[in-house]
Amino acid sequence: MIVINCPYCGQDRHEEELTYGGEAEIIRPVDPTTVSDETWTDYLYFRNNPKGIHHEQWCCSAGCGQWFKVARDTVSHAVLEVVTFDKRLSA
Ligand SMILES: [Zn+2]
Repeated sequence: MIVINCPYCGQDRHEEELTYGGEAEIIRPVDPTTVSDETWTDYLYFRNNPKGIHHEQWCCSAGCGQWFKVARDTVSHAVLEVVTFDKRLSA
C-alpha cells in the first residue's frame, strides 16, 4: 500500500485515491524539428524503470486534483520525498 501526503491539500492519500502519471522530470526537446529521430523516440516512448529510487508524478485525483512529484523506492514502496510540481526532487 502506497500512502502519499499531498503537498497541496496536506491529506494522506492511499494509492486508490491517486493517479500514477509515470516518470517525472522528463524534458521535452525545445524544437522537435532539430533533434534526431532517436532523440525524439526516446522522449516519446522510453522511460526508466529502476529497481530502487524512482522519480514519479502523481495526481491527487480523489482530492484537490493537483499533480506533484514523488521520489519512491520501487522495491519497498517507501516514499522518500514529495514536492509540488514546480520544484525538483533531490532524493
Ligand atoms: Zn491533494
